[in-house]
Amino acid sequence: MKRKELLMKNIARERIVLLFNMAFEKTRKHDFELAKRYVEIALRIAGKAKVKIPLKYKRSYCRKCFIPLIPGLTLRVRVHSEGKGSRVVYRCLLCGWTRRFMIKTSRRKLRKESLEK
Ligand SMILES: [Zn+2]
Repeated sequence: MKRKELLMKNIARERIVLLFNMAFEKTRKHDFELAKRYVEIALRIAGKAKVKIPLKYKRSYCRKCFIPLIPGLTLRVRVHSEGKGSRVVYRCLLCGWTRRFMIKTSRRKLRKESLEK
């Protein structure tokens, strides 16, 4: 990789983190429209610079309306226990986008995973 390209990627990464931080701040202040725009800009920069969105942020916005997801504010989390595993349902409170996934791990392992984040 060329030096200049590497530098561009570093700048892009920094901007993405900055934009996501700003988006979360705006969400907390209920400025949802601006928050969505920040996420959209961050995604556009990532696409242009061919930089991956950090995992921390990758799962933290709504895939449909781009609002940063904050539990209790823009995100509702429901856990349904089903025998061996649990089903978790994420629902965006702004557009109604839902995402379901299964958790098959034991409670102990689950706790360990959440601590590692
Ligand atoms: Zn949404």
